[in-house]
Amino acid sequence: MKIAVCVKQVPDTWAEKKLRADDSTLDRESADGVMNELDEYAVEEALRIVEAGEGEVTIVTMGPERASETVRKALSMGADAGVHLVDDALHGSDALATSEALAKVLSGRGFDLILFGSESTDARMSVVPAMVAERLGVAQLTFAQKVTVSGGAITIERATDYGYDTVEAATPAVVSVVEKINEPRYPSFKGIMAAKKKPVETISVADAGIDQSVIGASAAWSAVVDFAVRLPKAAGTVVTDEGDGGVKIAEFLSAQKFI
Ligand SMILES: Cc1cc2nc3c(=O)[nH]c(=O)nc-3n(C[C@H](O)[C@H](O)[C@H](O)COP(=O)(O)OP(=O)(O)OC[C@H]3O[C@@H](n4cnc5c(N)ncnc54)[C@H](O)[C@@H]3O)c2cc1C
Repeated sequence: MKIAVCVKQVPDTWAEKKLRADDSTLDRESADGVMNELDEYAVEEALRIVEAGEGEVTIVTMGPERASETVRKALSMGADAGVHLVDDALHGSDALATSEALAKVLSGRGFDLILFGSESTDARMSVVPAMVAERLGVAQLTFAQKVTVSGGAITIERATDYGYDTVEAATPAVVSVVEKINEPRYPSFKGIMAAKKKPVETISVADAGIDQSVIGASAAWSAVVDFAVRLPKAAGTVVTDEGDGGVKIAEFLSAQKFI
């Protein structure tokens, strides 16, 4: 089975995130880049599927030069190869443009299964997998907490508020995963060394046949028109109990209209 996993490099979850003053896009330089957490689960699931049967796992990313670190991390977990779409023209792309670019990179490579995380931790649109499936004209099985592959069929348990739905589709298909699905492995030392020799194809917008007019900030359907920096947290109110603590708390809650 030929599997692709789309992974995104995002600013470290714990880093203070900032927007750039010049174009209101996310400042990716000021924080360390890491693999989007949910994408680690997607990589893990792809590796498990291949280990239980046969096939190969290709990592696909769209992002600046340093997003190649994220591809290497997935390779050190055990994936076989990578494709990195990198081009200044992609800067400022919205979800529609991102899905168009990824679909162009994925198309024609003969993937049976294309795995995604279900949401990125930086933009959190949670729409790219569905958009890519639509553009490729293949089934979308989203929010998978379990994936079973049998011949040409993919069956998932789709996480819902009330439990799960069992959904099935024929390959090729797009699947997005939630964190309940597995426990991602840590790259081993051997895996890190092996990853250095694995092939990573670096391609540009022109190489992928992407129409320049539908990507980048100028083509985005939405834009950040204004933003404000979050105010520092105000110090809390300390109530000193001098025998009247209960009354003071009740007065405070009443003043805040909690009671
Ligand atoms: C209000 C708003 C305004 C925005 N304005 C701008 C802007 O002006 N400029 C700008 O640059 N961005 C902007 N963005 C961010 C931009 O829309 C997203 O980076 C882009 O659309 C991808 O969406 P996402 O990360 O939310 O994907 P999601 O749909 O949350 O991601 C789901 C999955 O898709 C895959 N995926 C997503 N992106 C990639 C990728 N690049 N490579 C490989 N796999 C990927 C991953 O598997 C991921 O887990 C904005 C976002 C919002 C919410």
